[in-house]
Amino acid sequence: MAASPASIYVHADARFRALVIGTAGLDCLHTGSRWTEGPVYLPATDELIWSDIPNNRLLRWSEGAGAGVFRQPSDYNNGNTLDREGRIVGCLHGARAVVRTEHDGSRTVLASHWQGKRLNSPNDVVVKSDGSIWFTDPAYGIDSDYEGHKADSEIGACNVYRIDGASGEITLVAGDMERPNGLAFSLDESRLYIADTGLTHRAGGPHHIRVFDVVDGARLRGGEVFATISPGLADGFRLDAHGNIWTSAGDGVHCYAPDGTLLGKVLVPEVVSNVVFGGPRGNRLFITATTSLYAVYLAVNGAARP
Ligand code: MG
Repeated sequence: MAASPASIYVHADARFRALVIGTAGLDCLHTGSRWTEGPVYLPATDELIWSDIPNNRLLRWSEGAGAGVFRQPSDYNNGNTLDREGRIVGCLHGARAVVRTEHDGSRTVLASHWQGKRLNSPNDVVVKSDGSIWFTDPAYGIDSDYEGHKADSEIGACNVYRIDGASGEITLVAGDMERPNGLAFSLDESRLYIADTGLTHRAGGPHHIRVFDVVDGARLRGGEVFATISPGLADGFRLDAHGNIWTSAGDGVHCYAPDGTLLGKVLVPEVVSNVVFGGPRGNRLFITATTSLYAVYLAVNGAARP
C-alpha cells in the first residue's frame, strides 16, 4: 500500500525540494510488529534486516522474497550496523552487550562490561572508518521485561562508549547525557551526532541531537545541542551523501541540514524509531515505525558506508 505522494512531504526550507521526489509515495513493506528498530541494509544480498524488540526477533525483507524472520530469539536485539567487512554489529538488550555476527554465523562479544560492571543495554552503534565501534548504553532494555530483562543498572549512568578497533579496549566518550540513543558521524568523521531521548523518563527531559567534535579520532569535545526534535524523539538517524541528517520523530522522518536547519519532513502514520538508506542504488530510505517497516525513494543517496 502507498500513501498519496504529495501528502507525505512537508517543506520547511527550499533545499528540501532537491532531496525528495514529489511523485514517490510511502510504501508499507511489513506490519504486525510491536516495536521496530535497528534497520540495517545488507548490500551483498539486497536485503533489509530490522529488529522487533518486544517480540525478541530480527526480521528480513527483500524485494523478491518479501518479509520473514531472520533470527528468533534475537536476544532482544536493538540497533544494528555493518562493519567495514560487512558483518552485522548488533546491540543486544538481553545479553547487555555489543555483539558481532561473523561470516560463519558465530558471535563475538565486543563489549559487555565497563570497568568491571555490566553495561545497561546497548542501544545503537556505529563503526568509524578506523574500525573503532561507538555505541550508546541507555537503560531501556533493563527498565522492564518488555524489551529485555528487568535489572538494576550496575554502572548507574547512561553513557556513550568507544571500542578500540585494534585492542578492543572500551573507553567512555560521553558521560553527561540522560538517555543517549542514536548516533552517527559526519561525512568526514570530524563530528559525532548523538541523540538524547531523556524525555521518555523525565518530563522536560531532553529530546534533541547533540554534536561533538571528534578529537584525535578517539575522544569527544563540546556537545552543543544541534537540533531539538518535536514532536517526538531522535531515537535513530542516518546521513545522506550531502551530510544532511534524516532522523526519527513523532510524526515521521525529519531532515536537518548540517547547519542545523530543519529542511523538511516525510510524514509517517506511526511513530518512527530509526531509518537506514538502502536498495541497490542507496536511494531508498527504510523506516522502522512502531509496528511497521516503511520505505520511500529519495532524490538523494545515503552517505557512503563507513
Ligand atoms: Mg534507539
